Amino acid sequence: MKCREKCAACCIAPSISSPIPGMPNGKKAGERCVQLDDEDRCRLFMHRDRPVVCRKLQPSEDMCRTSKQEALVYLTELEEQTKPD
Ligand code: SF4
Ligand code: SF4
Repeated sequence: MKCREKCAACCIAPSISSPIPGMPNGKKAGERCVQLDDEDRCRLFMHRDRPVVCRKLQPSEDMCRTSKQEALVYLTELEEQTKPD
Protein backbone atom coordinates (compact mmCIF):
# COMPACT_ATOMS: atom_id res chain seq x y z
CA MET A 1 0.00 0.00 0.00
CA LYS A 2 1.04 3.63 -0.37
CA CYS A 3 1.79 5.94 2.50
CA ARG A 4 -1.14 8.28 3.22
CA GLU A 5 -0.69 12.03 2.72
CA LYS A 6 -0.55 14.15 5.90
CA CYS A 7 -0.49 11.17 8.23
CA ALA A 8 2.91 10.85 9.93
CA ALA A 9 1.47 8.59 12.63
CA CYS A 10 4.59 6.41 12.44
CA CYS A 11 6.78 9.52 12.88
CA ILE A 12 4.91 10.53 16.05
CA ALA A 13 3.60 7.53 18.03
CA PRO A 14 6.63 5.19 18.24
CA SER A 15 9.81 5.89 20.16
CA ILE A 16 13.02 5.86 18.12
CA SER A 17 16.23 5.07 19.99
CA SER A 18 18.69 5.91 17.22
CA PRO A 19 19.84 9.50 16.66
CA ILE A 20 17.83 11.65 14.27
CA PRO A 21 19.33 14.91 12.96
CA GLY A 22 18.06 17.52 15.44
CA MET A 23 17.19 14.81 17.97
CA PRO A 24 20.54 13.30 18.99
CA ASN A 25 18.97 10.99 21.58
CA GLY A 26 16.21 9.80 19.29
CA LYS A 27 12.61 10.55 20.18
CA LYS A 28 10.13 9.52 22.84
CA ALA A 29 6.86 7.79 22.08
CA GLY A 30 4.24 10.36 21.13
CA GLU A 31 6.83 13.00 20.33
CA ARG A 32 6.64 14.61 16.90
CA CYS A 33 9.85 14.07 14.94
CA VAL A 34 11.56 17.40 14.27
CA GLN A 35 12.20 16.28 10.70
CA LEU A 36 8.50 16.40 9.83
CA ASP A 37 7.66 19.47 7.76
CA ASP A 38 4.40 21.45 7.88
CA GLU A 39 2.84 19.00 5.43
CA ASP A 40 3.78 16.05 7.67
CA ARG A 41 6.43 14.87 5.23
CA CYS A 42 9.90 13.69 6.21
CA ARG A 43 12.54 16.27 5.33
CA LEU A 44 15.13 13.47 5.21
CA PHE A 45 13.20 11.14 2.95
CA MET A 46 15.93 10.72 0.33
CA HIS A 47 18.78 11.74 2.61
CA ARG A 48 21.42 9.37 3.91
CA ASP A 49 20.95 10.73 7.46
CA ARG A 50 17.45 9.30 7.62
CA PRO A 51 17.57 6.65 10.38
CA VAL A 52 17.77 3.05 9.24
CA VAL A 53 14.67 2.20 11.27
CA CYS A 54 12.72 4.77 9.24
CA ARG A 55 14.09 3.51 5.94
CA LYS A 56 13.08 -0.03 6.80
CA LEU A 57 9.54 0.79 7.84
CA GLN A 58 7.04 0.12 5.07
CA PRO A 59 3.38 1.10 4.96
CA SER A 60 1.05 -1.79 5.71
CA GLU A 61 -2.65 -2.20 6.32
CA ASP A 62 -1.89 -3.53 9.80
CA MET A 63 -0.02 -0.42 10.81
CA CYS A 64 -1.58 2.34 8.76
CA ARG A 65 -5.22 1.30 9.29
CA THR A 66 -7.75 3.56 7.58
CA SER A 67 -6.89 6.94 9.13
CA LYS A 68 -4.16 8.82 10.92
CA GLN A 69 -6.12 8.59 14.16
CA GLU A 70 -6.50 4.81 13.91
CA ALA A 71 -2.80 4.43 13.12
CA LEU A 72 -1.88 6.60 16.10
CA VAL A 73 -4.02 4.47 18.42
CA TYR A 74 -2.58 1.22 17.02
CA LEU A 75 1.03 2.38 17.20
CA THR A 76 0.60 3.82 20.69
CA GLU A 77 -0.81 0.51 21.92
CA LEU A 78 2.01 -1.38 20.23
CA GLU A 79 4.55 0.87 21.90
CA GLU A 80 2.97 0.20 25.31
CA GLN A 81 3.08 -3.56 24.71
CA THR A 82 6.70 -3.63 23.58
CA LYS A 83 8.34 -1.18 25.98
CA PRO A 84 10.68 -2.78 28.51
CA ASP A 85 9.40 -3.07 32.12
S1 SF4 B 1 1.34 5.24 9.49
FE1 SF4 B 1 1.38 4.47 7.39
S2 SF4 B 1 0.22 5.96 6.20
FE2 SF4 B 1 0.79 6.91 8.14
S3 SF4 B 1 2.73 7.99 7.68
FE3 SF4 B 1 3.23 5.95 8.50
S4 SF4 B 1 3.48 4.67 6.68
FE4 SF4 B 1 2.39 6.50 6.05
S1 SF4 C 1 13.33 10.94 10.33
FE1 SF4 C 1 11.67 11.14 8.89
S2 SF4 C 1 10.78 9.09 8.67
FE2 SF4 C 1 12.03 9.12 10.54
S3 SF4 C 1 10.60 9.63 12.20
FE3 SF4 C 1 11.53 11.53 11.49
S4 SF4 C 1 10.11 12.34 9.96
FE4 SF4 C 1 9.63 10.18 10.26
